[in-house]
Amino acid sequence: MTTTIVCAHCGTESTTRRQGIPWCANCGIWLVRDEVTAEWISFAEHAHRQPRYRELEAIAQTGDAATAAQPTVDALLPAGWHSSIAEPSHGGCFTLDLHPPAGPVDLYAYLVPPVGGYDWRVRVYNHSTGVCRTLFTPATATAATYRDVPEAVTAAIAAVQAATGAGPAATAREGPTP
Ligand SMILES: [Zn+2]
Repeated sequence: MTTTIVCAHCGTESTTRRQGIPWCANCGIWLVRDEVTAEWISFAEHAHRQPRYRELEAIAQTGDAATAAQPTVDALLPAGWHSSIAEPSHGGCFTLDLHPPAGPVDLYAYLVPPVGGYDWRVRVYNHSTGVCRTLFTPATATAATYRDVPEAVTAAIAAVQAATGAGPAATAREGPTP
């Protein structure tokens, strides 16, 4: 079986090898196959592309993580809530969005799957103000991270309920009146 090797740089078919490696006589470069695009490119170009490919792979993994976590998340959501998986936007990653029932404050929380060395993170996005806020570890400037999905969901629900005034304070008001 023969593979046709065409230099992606000049479009010439490479028929020669040097030290067993495909060689483009036109460009004077060794060629290596880019497994992502199936192009034959220089080793320098190949090395240059790797960080971006690792990044894309990491983003794809956030999609897998969000999909895998969704049933767990759905089981923990209060009545009237629903979850959805959001595609990466603005160079970010996939997220798992938690939508509360429609209320006076138009906001939702989203879980950021583990990426870039972080565990799960939680953000709350307010549609009305366009403000997105990350949950922080109390009294620190460090983004709160959650190793387990249920932990992240609990934090997300609490943050949304606190922001909409439907949190523990509201529950307390339902108790017996002194
Ligand atoms: Zn070439």
